[in-house]
Amino acid sequence: MLSKTNYIIWRDCHKNAWLKIHKPDIYYANELSEFEKQIIETGNEVDLLARSLMPSAEFQKKFEADGYLAITDILHPSTSSEQVNLYEVKATNEIDKKTHLHDLTFQYIVLKRAGLEVESANLIHLNSEYVREGELELTKLFVTEDMTETVKEMTEEVAAEMQLAKKYLSQKDEPKGPCDCIYKGRSAHCTTFHYSNPDIPEYGVHDLARIGNSKAKLTELVDGNKFRLEDVPEGLKLSDIQKNQIWTYLNDRVIISRENISEELDGLEFPLYFLDYETFPAAIPRFDGFSPYNQIPFQYSLHILKNTEDEPEHKDFLYTEKNDPSEAFVKSLQSHIGPKGSVIVWHKDFECGRNDELASRIPSSKQFFDNIKERIYDLEVIFKKQHHVHKDYKGSSSIKKVLPVLVPSLKYDDLPIKEGGTAAETWNKLVANSLQLAEDEKEEIIRNLLEYCKLDTYAMYAIWKELSSLVT
Ligand code: SF4
Repeated sequence: MLSKTNYIIWRDCHKNAWLKIHKPDIYYANELSEFEKQIIETGNEVDLLARSLMPSAEFQKKFEADGYLAITDILHPSTSSEQVNLYEVKATNEIDKKTHLHDLTFQYIVLKRAGLEVESANLIHLNSEYVREGELELTKLFVTEDMTETVKEMTEEVAAEMQLAKKYLSQKDEPKGPCDCIYKGRSAHCTTFHYSNPDIPEYGVHDLARIGNSKAKLTELVDGNKFRLEDVPEGLKLSDIQKNQIWTYLNDRVIISRENISEELDGLEFPLYFLDYETFPAAIPRFDGFSPYNQIPFQYSLHILKNTEDEPEHKDFLYTEKNDPSEAFVKSLQSHIGPKGSVIVWHKDFECGRNDELASRIPSSKQFFDNIKERIYDLEVIFKKQHHVHKDYKGSSSIKKVLPVLVPSLKYDDLPIKEGGTAAETWNKLVANSLQLAEDEKEEIIRNLLEYCKLDTYAMYAIWKELSSLVT
């Protein structure tokens, strides 16, 4: 029996779908990341809400025909005939043409083969234009797109694919041949890559920065059997980042451009405000002024350094109520950030984006955020511009890679929350289930969140300090 889910996975990667069915211990060897768990939870939440659009419909109905299995999200009887209307709910702002239409067509085919007359096939997705004001307006939050004509046009192609997928996935012997991702950068590899490609080194040419975007180069390396960084031919045209990544690795030396680092740091003005936000992207807008997937800023940490001799002073904010944190967030920020001094962040697009959203939701804060915008400095730039390169950065400028090199005494590994996705998830659990949590559980969550965000800004301070010591 070929399910719709397995057909969609097969479309993405034949081998992976085969492993899921025949070697689940390998396919499921890695626990889902917080990000993946969140996608599933969000999907369920959006699906449940969309049902309210058609309360008299049938939900999660199972259909089997010719060895295919489809479970429909929403099935609504036609008002004028014996036919049914099929609705597939997607927790996305847009239709993903690569998967959503195949998903819907698969269901359409199974329903028809099971003897149903399908009047229409529709996709329901979130409306990115919708801005919540007061109660949720479901007819505005969701967009229903009638895809019947497209689905009919795709029927032949999808039916042929379904047959191929069933044949491929029912073979007992493991499919032979190299894994296609050998021609893709590391970020595209799934969790079973190492199983299918045991001879590819864990760190090698697939890990070169942005190599996935240079298909021709990676193909040349793979076809030439060059998988280690040691094997990369000298003449291969590489970006500066890639060249530095290989050079620092092969020579086990650090690149430090003191003049450039000094120029960057000299532009900073005291007091220095090391700032970091934590946010949660709610698919279903929870508060007025929010659209689907707008980030809710719920926490920040701030280390303030008045001069080079002092230790930084720490301030923070964490909102633990169920309502909109925005006003309290801004008020707290305004009470801690004075009118002068550089505001230092890591990857400024993120904080600047949130500031713009806060300013548009709370117009009285616009001047404050406009002023911050002029004073903001992105510490990541020093690493992006390759003024400091270490082999252990592995071509990345993420703070999670830079910190262990420059300040090895500070570690995220020791914390219960180690990255932003988990922080967002943890906060969501706290506010969504606060009534079901015992006091000590709540306290622990709050402690963990505060500790994580505090390290983010202390890490920036410590990196700044280390860089300063290199140039003075
Ligand atoms: S690594 Fe790529 S090609 Fe290999 S099984 Fe995973 S998704 Fe498929």
